[in-house]
Amino acid sequence: NKPIHVVGGGLAGSEAAWQIAERGIAVVLHEMRPVRGTDAHQTDRFAELVCSNSFRSDDSETNAVGVLHAEMRLANSLIMRAADAHQVPAGSALAVDREGFAQAVTTAIEDHPLIRIERGEVEGLPPEEWGPSIVATGPLTAPALAESIRAATGSDALAFFDAIAPIVHFDSIDLDKAWFQSRYDKVGPGGTGKDYINCPLDKETYERFVAALIEGDRTEFKEWEGTPYFDGCLPIEVMAERGPETLRHGPMKPMGLTNAHEPDIKPYAVVQLRQDNALGTLYNIVGFQTKLKYGAQGDIFRMIPGLENAEFARLGGLHRNTYLNSPVLLDATLRLKALPHVRFAGQITGCEGYVESAAVGLMTGRFAAAERLGETLTPPPQTTAMGALVAHITGGHLAHEEDGGKRSFQPMNVNFGLFPPLDPGTIRKPEGQKRFRGKEKAIAKKKAMSARALADYAAWLGLDPVAAAAE
Ligand code: FAD
Repeated sequence: NKPIHVVGGGLAGSEAAWQIAERGIAVVLHEMRPVRGTDAHQTDRFAELVCSNSFRSDDSETNAVGVLHAEMRLANSLIMRAADAHQVPAGSALAVDREGFAQAVTTAIEDHPLIRIERGEVEGLPPEEWGPSIVATGPLTAPALAESIRAATGSDALAFFDAIAPIVHFDSIDLDKAWFQSRYDKVGPGGTGKDYINCPLDKETYERFVAALIEGDRTEFKEWEGTPYFDGCLPIEVMAERGPETLRHGPMKPMGLTNAHEPDIKPYAVVQLRQDNALGTLYNIVGFQTKLKYGAQGDIFRMIPGLENAEFARLGGLHRNTYLNSPVLLDATLRLKALPHVRFAGQITGCEGYVESAAVGLMTGRFAAAERLGETLTPPPQTTAMGALVAHITGGHLAHEEDGGKRSFQPMNVNFGLFPPLDPGTIRKPEGQKRFRGKEKAIAKKKAMSARALADYAAWLGLDPVAAAAE
C-alpha cells in the first residue's frame, strides 16, 4: 500500500488525506507547522481557521455555498462533519467553535490508521519517486515550494497577490441604460465587435462617483502584506485620488463608444463590463480592482447608471494570495499537466474561501484515490456546486487577449453564476399564482438550481437521489 503524499494540512489537505484514506489507501500528510509557521496561522492544528469562524450560509435551498455544504456532506466530508459537530449559533450561517473544530479534524487525522503525519517544510514540488502527490499549501505557501512551482510552470503561472475586480450577474444589469459595444467596434479574435457592456456617466454623475470612491471606507493591508501596487493593478480609489480626470483617461475613458440608447449624447465617462465566464452569466467591471470595504463597494458601484440593481457574484479585493493560473496549468482532474504525478488542491488552485478550499481538497483526494485504484473518475457535472467550482478552476473562466489572455484568472467563491442556466420551464410560479411577485422569480430560480445540483451530485456519487435528498 504505497502512500499518496499530501503536502499541507489545512482545510484542503486534511480533507484530501481523509478522502484517500477512507478509500483504503495509505497517506503521508506533510505539514510544516509548528516547525515553520505562516504569517496567519497561530497553532499546530490541522484545518486551522485563520480569520473568521464562519462557513457562510448553510441554506442548501437558495444559496450556492449552502449547496456546496450539502454536496460535501453527501461525500463523507471530514471538514463538514467536524463543522457540524462544533457549530455555534449564527442564524442561517454555519459558524463553528474554531478550536473545537480544528481539534476534531486533527484527532480524526491522527487516529486514522492509514494516515501518517510528517511535520516539516517540504521545500520543493514532490519528487517523482514519491509517486502520486497532492500540493495543498494554501494562499501562504512557503517561499521555497512556491519558487519550485514557479520554476516548473513558468513566470506567469503563479500569482502572489490577487487583484480582484467586482463581478456582476449578467441578468441584474439594466440594458435599457447600458449597451453592448467593443471600443471602436473592434473585432478581436472570436469577438463580435459587441463584446463589452458599457454604462454611460454624465459629468455630474462622474464627479459624484469619483468623490464617493475617494471618501469610501477602505480595508487596510495586513502589516505583512506590504502595499502590492504593481503593473496596472492600482485600486480604482487610488487612481481616483490622483486627480479628477485620471479615471476618465484610464479605465473609464469614453473614447470609441457611442451610447446606443442616446447616440447624439457623448458620454462623459464609461464603465465597461466584460464577460467573465464561458456561460455568459457573469461580467466583471474592467479595471475596478479595489480595497474598498464590501459595504462601500455595493453602495458606490450601484451609483453607475445601468448597475443600480446590480447583484454581485463577487466584490473586489487585493490580498496576498499564492495561486496558480489553473485554467492553463491543470487538467480536468486537477493534475499539473507538466508533472502529472502532482495534483493541486485548495486555495492555491484559485478557489476562494474555507468551504471551497475544502471542497476542492475533497475532489482532488477522490481523483487521486480513483487513479490509484485504476478507476476512471470524470469530474461532476457543472450543474453541481462541486462541478461548477472545478470547472471554474480548470477551464470555465474566459481568457482575454488584451490582458495577456491567460493571466486574467482570479480567485472565486462558489456562486450561482458559475452554474449553467436552467432549462426553460423549470422555474415554477408559487401555487395558485399566474405571475411572480417581488423577488419570487429570483428565489424560484435559486431553488431550481439548488435542487438540480443536489440531484446531479447524488447521481454522480452513485447514491439514490431520494435517500440523498432525505439526508
Ligand atoms: P491553508 O488552510 O492555509 O492550509 C495550507 C497548509 O499548508 C498550512 O497549514 C501551511 O502551514 C501548510 N504549508 C504551506 N507551505 C508548506 C510547505 N512548503 N510544506 C509543508 N506545509 C506547508 N476564507 C474564508 O472563507 N473566510 C475567512 O475569513 C478567510 N480569511 C483569510 C485570512 C487570511 C489572512 C488568508 C491568507 C486567507 C483567508 N481566507 C479566508 C481564505 C482561505 O479560505 C483560507 O486561507 C483557507 O485556509 C485556505 O485553505 P487551504 O487548505 O487551501 O490552505
